[in-house]
Amino acid sequence: MIREAVAVIRCDCGERVGTKIQSQKLFDEMRSFFDGNVSNGIFEEISTGRRGQEFYFEETDEGVKKFWHSANRWFKCRSCNSVWEFQYPDFPAAGYVRKHIEETRE
Ligand SMILES: [Zn+2]
Repeated sequence: MIREAVAVIRCDCGERVGTKIQSQKLFDEMRSFFDGNVSNGIFEEISTGRRGQEFYFEETDEGVKKFWHSANRWFKCRSCNSVWEFQYPDFPAAGYVRKHIEETRE
């Protein structure tokens, strides 16, 4: 696979934490945050989840990693390799955003 010589991509994953999504306003904000980062090329949407799938595996330089897979959308940051899980709310049930740290790293 050809790696492009890209400029350094800056993300702000380190400054962000997961959050519970209890309002339409916050949901809209989170959706534009993720969609914006995908358009910018910072995030890559790695999966559109389906209920019923419990996890998926991904091969990485450090080996095969397992990620739980119960949410609607998953994103991977191309800058820092964080994986973000974005569960849409189904009001009155809240949604959430979670950051997943690589599980196999020691
Ligand atoms: Zn990042």
